[in-house]
Amino acid sequence: MNEEIRHIVCPHCTSLNRIPGEKDARKAKCGHCHQALFGGPPASVSATSFATHIQRNDIPVVVDFWAEWCGPCKAMAPVYERVASEFEPELRFLKVDTESEPELSARYNIRSIPTLMLFRKGNVVAQQAGAMGAEGLRSWLRRHAASNTPAFQSGWATTTVLMLTNSLMP
Ligand SMILES: [Zn+2]
Repeated sequence: MNEEIRHIVCPHCTSLNRIPGEKDARKAKCGHCHQALFGGPPASVSATSFATHIQRNDIPVVVDFWAEWCGPCKAMAPVYERVASEFEPELRFLKVDTESEPELSARYNIRSIPTLMLFRKGNVVAQQAGAMGAEGLRSWLRRHAASNTPAFQSGWATTTVLMLTNSLMP
């Protein structure tokens, strides 16, 4: 944990919060709406709040593009929520309903769902189409959102093994 101030966008009201590095962000509440900044299920975002989240958060932001009619999306939802609770507050997890926000899917060229995208300071760092299980999702996050925080270090050996396994596949 460093001493820097981290800017965290509230998942409830989209206000920008400043969290001192030494403070446990898991216990932090939004200065505007007073709800917990972390600990809830991944928040659904509109095109407007999506832009604020990916640009203003100092932590990487993971976005699940999904739809109500998509079976694999619904199957992955509880996995996504569980893994989100493990990686917070090092990452922010969001959901975009592609039915209600078609312009976002078009902008990011989403061709199939579920698609996961990882953003850092507004830029796309990684993209993955297709439902993932919990261990696949954890390993994908560790690979692309590398950080020195404990959530990432635990299971690093597992990630390495999985990467080797993947490279051997046709
Ligand atoms: Zn708030």
